[in-house]
Amino acid sequence: MLIKSALLRVFLRVGVYPLRASPRRVSISLVLLAAALLSAASRSLDIYWIDAEGGAATLIVSPSGQSLLVDTANRTPDDRDAKRIFAAAQQAGLKKIDILLTTHFHGDHIGAMQALSKMIPIEMYMDHGDSVELNRPNVAAQYKAYVELSQGKRKVLQPGDRIPLKGADITVLISAGKPITKAMKGGGPNATCKDWQDRTIPEPDPDNDQSVGFLLKFGKFKFVDMGDLTWNYEKKLVCPDNLIGPVDLYQTTHHGLDRSNSPQFVWGIKPRVAVMNNGPRKGGPVSVFETLRQSPGLEDIWQGHLALGIPKEVNTDEKMIANLEPTAECKGNLLKVSVAPDGKYTVTNQRNGFSKTYASR
Ligand SMILES: [Zn+2]
Repeated sequence: MLIKSALLRVFLRVGVYPLRASPRRVSISLVLLAAALLSAASRSLDIYWIDAEGGAATLIVSPSGQSLLVDTANRTPDDRDAKRIFAAAQQAGLKKIDILLTTHFHGDHIGAMQALSKMIPIEMYMDHGDSVELNRPNVAAQYKAYVELSQGKRKVLQPGDRIPLKGADITVLISAGKPITKAMKGGGPNATCKDWQDRTIPEPDPDNDQSVGFLLKFGKFKFVDMGDLTWNYEKKLVCPDNLIGPVDLYQTTHHGLDRSNSPQFVWGIKPRVAVMNNGPRKGGPVSVFETLRQSPGLEDIWQGHLALGIPKEVNTDEKMIANLEPTAECKGNLLKVSVAPDGKYTVTNQRNGFSKTYASR
């Protein structure tokens, strides 16, 4: 596909010359063709974590130039999060969002959708199906707006479905509480399940349980985003068998809260790098840092925010934290991951320019 589109671009620019074309023009077109092929082959897949003060908005741009936005964070009177998402889309050179995946219908995942849709076109909407919290007026109002905006462009996802982002391979692992039934490559028995303990307190916000979770593959590289999937639902994917297998990069589930991120889930998928999209006072309790640090093979934790409610030293190294201030003074710096076609991926903190490169398994 990449080669085809590169060829097309060259032909559009240079034109297809008939047999009588001058040798000079033919050689120029060959040089342009080679350059286009090289740039297509060397282009990266990029992931941006937009800082939404504890909301979720993860923008994925594939080498094809197509984009998948996962969640649209919060609604505020000044459209703060919509503006931050739009700024990231501009940084990525996007003219539209090809796919918006809403993992579930809570305000911190769908709040900025309406404002954003006025800033940049959204072509396709994907989700888990009806909200299960329509008895809550706020949720019902946002869901109604979603249904109206997505009319004719909506797809309800089932486990095992592919999300059609050209240039990446994305499989839905769970949707509306239903997990895949067959393990992905690398999955198998999970020895840590003997210690599994169910959470007995019912989830107060049950649409979290319905979250769409997915595995993105780009060459050797694997990335998991589970939205706000909760503890007991994580079990469906990792116990007794780990249906996901090992991954390279993990967006800590539920902003790094301890209602999610069970040890069996984290230690089962064995991420090398974790990105926590926490807020200054949301996500990142000590127990989740402990689970991550005990995870076999974990090299680094990156954070959207310094977690202010725990001792500073429990947080990751300051140079790997995108924002240090409380919300009122926060500039909304991004974390960005660039994945090269060979599987090497570089995480960059846009606050200070600090970056580090990791190898995919
Ligand atoms: Zn959330």
